[in-house]
Amino acid sequence: MNFDLTPEQDQLRDAVRALGRRYGHSYFVEKAKSGGHTTELWDEAGRLGYLGVNVPTEYGGGGGGLTELAIVCEELAAAGCPLLLLVVSPAIAATVINRHGTEEQRKRFLPGFADGSLKVVFAITEPDAGSNFHRLGTVARRDGDDWLLSGRKCYISGVDEAQYVLVVARTEDAASGKLKPALFLLPTDAAGLTRSKLDMEIVSPENQFLLYLDDVRLPADALVGGSLDAGLPALFAGLNPERITVAAMGVGTGRYAIERATDYTATRRVWGGRSIGAHQGVAHPLAHAAVQVELARLMIHKAATLYDAGRDLEAGVCGNMAKYAAGEAAALAVDTAVQALGGAGMTTEYGVATLLGAVRAGRIAPVSREMILNFVAQHVLGQEKSY
Ligand SMILES: Cc1cc2nc3c(=O)[nH]c(=O)nc-3n(C[C@H](O)[C@H](O)[C@H](O)COP(=O)(O)OP(=O)(O)OC[C@H]3O[C@@H](n4cnc5c(N)ncnc54)[C@H](O)[C@@H]3O)c2cc1C
Repeated sequence: MNFDLTPEQDQLRDAVRALGRRYGHSYFVEKAKSGGHTTELWDEAGRLGYLGVNVPTEYGGGGGGLTELAIVCEELAAAGCPLLLLVVSPAIAATVINRHGTEEQRKRFLPGFADGSLKVVFAITEPDAGSNFHRLGTVARRDGDDWLLSGRKCYISGVDEAQYVLVVARTEDAASGKLKPALFLLPTDAAGLTRSKLDMEIVSPENQFLLYLDDVRLPADALVGGSLDAGLPALFAGLNPERITVAAMGVGTGRYAIERATDYTATRRVWGGRSIGAHQGVAHPLAHAAVQVELARLMIHKAATLYDAGRDLEAGVCGNMAKYAAGEAAALAVDTAVQALGGAGMTTEYGVATLLGAVRAGRIAPVSREMILNFVAQHVLGQEKSY
């Protein structure tokens, strides 16, 4: 058993941390509140190779794995810049294309992931299906060599920043049976695709959208893997990277909040000589949150290590557990940090209450805590399915 990062991973962590701190949480919040995007940070991270760490070297990437990408997600979040687009673009979309795309799709898309110039977002959730993906109603119909896609998607992050949406549809002939998913690379400016921005109570430069697909015409080569049989394995390929990187973002956010709070409580004095951090009523909740964050971090490390070793099934169990643990730990850490900061905790200046919405959403998305508990109950504890 080895809990150490390699020297290269250590260097990556230090370098990403330095980059994140140069921008910091006030940059993130300023972009969110002015309706802007974290383009400068994204572009710089891309130029430095951090966004393509998991892309194979033959396509211009760093040739690393999910461990490296999780480091990037965690360290940017620990600097106050939790970028959801890291989860959808390099983690989900690049993995799906790398593992299940055709060679032509790899050549076309992976170099853009490698340098960050390409952003691909991910659309699976639908208003009438929610957590039950078997009810997906976005249908892909053949029309000659082309495909026509129709349906609706909701809560899709980052569409306004992306060139493509990786859309999960179902084929028409399977519409009444079990889900036979088919994944398509849909340009965000395609005719027939419209969107409306959702108002979310989350301080984030990344927005969520409703998408309407009205007979969107796509050429045959937009189908990921070039065959309908590629759909299910391609969809599953995205799940572990999604859970592990979103967990890493949660843990980074938790670390950030605890650091902000402990810097404050170690120096704030309102009862004579001692800092408020000397009071166990203040310090213990922070220590408890730190324990939860560190435990989640260990599980992320295990999940990413198993994934990079090609042990997908075990990585699936650990990735789900890591996502659950990180979601809970991040929400606890931010809430505890707000409390420890008192009134300052609710100000924009101290930069913790700005994360309340995001960490709350982290217990719902991209997979809810209840659906993870269902997964663990069924697949680890052998319990019957209730739904
Ligand atoms: C900030 C944010 C960003 C998002 N970004 C994206 C994105 O980029 N792409 C995308 O495709 N989706 C995205 N989503 C959607 C997200 O993945 C879904 O919200 C999530 O999967 C839950 O689906 P739902 O909202 O339809 O909830 P529902 O399925 O309606 O569930 C509602 C509640 O019931 C619970 N529940 C449902 N079924 C069961 C059951 N069988 N047992 C126990 N409890 C159950 C759920 O856990 C939840 O608490 C995003 C959501 C948010 C909030």
